[in-house]
Amino acid sequence: MKVRRLPVDPGPAAWNTILPPADRYPQQQGTLRCKVAIVGGGFAGLSAAQRLIDLGEESVVVLEAKEFAEGPAGRNSGFMIDLPHELNSDGYTGQAGAQKREIELNRIGIDYAADIASRCQLPAQVFEQAGRVTGASTHAGEQHLVEYRAQLDQLGESSRWMDAAEMQAMTGTNFYHRGLYTPGAALIQPAAYVRALTGLLAARAQLFEQSPVMEFEQRAGGWLLNTPKGQVQADRVVLAVNGHLQSFGFLPSRLLHVFTYASMTEPLSADQLARLSGVGDWGMLPADPMGTTVRKFSDYQGAGHRIVIRNHATLNQSIETSPSDMKRAAKLQQVSFDARFPMLNDVKFEHRWGGRLCLSLNSTHAFGEIAPGLFSACCQNGLGTAKGMLAGKLIADMMKLGSDADGVSDFLALPEPSRLPPQPFLSIGARLTMRYKEYKAGREL
Ligand SMILES: Cc1cc2nc3c(=O)[nH]c(=O)nc-3n(C[C@H](O)[C@H](O)[C@H](O)COP(=O)(O)OP(=O)(O)OC[C@H]3O[C@@H](n4cnc5c(N)ncnc54)[C@H](O)[C@@H]3O)c2cc1C
Repeated sequence: MKVRRLPVDPGPAAWNTILPPADRYPQQQGTLRCKVAIVGGGFAGLSAAQRLIDLGEESVVVLEAKEFAEGPAGRNSGFMIDLPHELNSDGYTGQAGAQKREIELNRIGIDYAADIASRCQLPAQVFEQAGRVTGASTHAGEQHLVEYRAQLDQLGESSRWMDAAEMQAMTGTNFYHRGLYTPGAALIQPAAYVRALTGLLAARAQLFEQSPVMEFEQRAGGWLLNTPKGQVQADRVVLAVNGHLQSFGFLPSRLLHVFTYASMTEPLSADQLARLSGVGDWGMLPADPMGTTVRKFSDYQGAGHRIVIRNHATLNQSIETSPSDMKRAAKLQQVSFDARFPMLNDVKFEHRWGGRLCLSLNSTHAFGEIAPGLFSACCQNGLGTAKGMLAGKLIADMMKLGSDADGVSDFLALPEPSRLPPQPFLSIGARLTMRYKEYKAGREL
């Protein structure tokens, strides 16, 4: 079968661009045999590869279409979060018990990421279990936080309020009136984290870049994967390509391809840093889910002190975004930056980019053995950094330990992604809804 589409990543993966040049991995060439081939080198693929090795698998190959840390895994905002953005006992998880289990599972993903960070001796600037701060700047945002905290209390989750003074002491801006702190999340420098994980893996697995799988075919006892310059014969294959699962012919009309966008400033000068004040590294999630996320980070490996702004979401069922989407995102991000950081009116943005997420209508995953010897760890929905690490770990557990392994049975019990409304109603409806929600987010955007 031909793979219908290959990934297209708009703009630079700025977190990667600002680091010193990375170790490069070869392009796959000739014929290679292995026990397990993993397609996709994001959180899910790399986590699956490392976990397989942890469990004693000796013959693992990872095929990445682009360069490691250039795809969504290296271009996100770096919040690795345990708690869903919306807590709602009427959600797909049903009652509080199921939602608690979802949070526990997310924490398994974060714990595995933390274990890898500790093995790689990563500094706090690359991986820190800093907790999560959600900030409100409107009455509606504060109301949302009050309701969210009530749900957390019901679930027995700890949290604490941060007042306006504490928010300003952390961020340097008086934009946020109130914040809610929860302890279970990590902040990562996503590209540096991905680089560290590939470095750890490189000792025990064969890693290939610029090696998209273009065709795949079932053979006696395994699968044949064709790349532009070679082929890989594998006993078993893991597809860890998130929304591009659809490009492999699976779950047509069931996956939502959402793009979101970000901008990174140039390095801040000593004078600009003094004007900003606040702590060296912080991350802020918006009280309104359609609002703006902000990261401020201190210098790491000569990249300088910078700010990243992320907002705007578009549904692009072609799995490619458009220049007009990028342009609108840039405009919105400038407005958000100006509102938060009036003391930095001389700071320019150096990088702007977009990237893919994959969601399903019923917030479920595409997980498990989808054909004999062919496994999927795709469709992470929101919280894709934690859930990507989790899905990768769990698919490896399923392959080595069986379907009853902790967490695997939970994932296998989930329904498959539900069918989407037909086009063009889906795209038109989604665009209108997202625009309306962005408008409603008001100052939180
Ligand atoms: C701007 C932005 C901000 C974000 N912020 C956050 C955040 O703060 N927190 C959070 O949890 N999530 C965030 N996300 C989402 C998160 O990055 C993704 O959900 C996550 O990367 C999914 O991990 P994954 O490994 O499943 O997929 P990916 O990271 O997308 O990895 C899949 C890999 O498969 C490769 N691939 C595809 N097709 C092929 C092929 N044919 N052959 C070989 N390789 C192939 C791709 O190149 C890609 O590298 C953000 C995303 C963006 C774009």
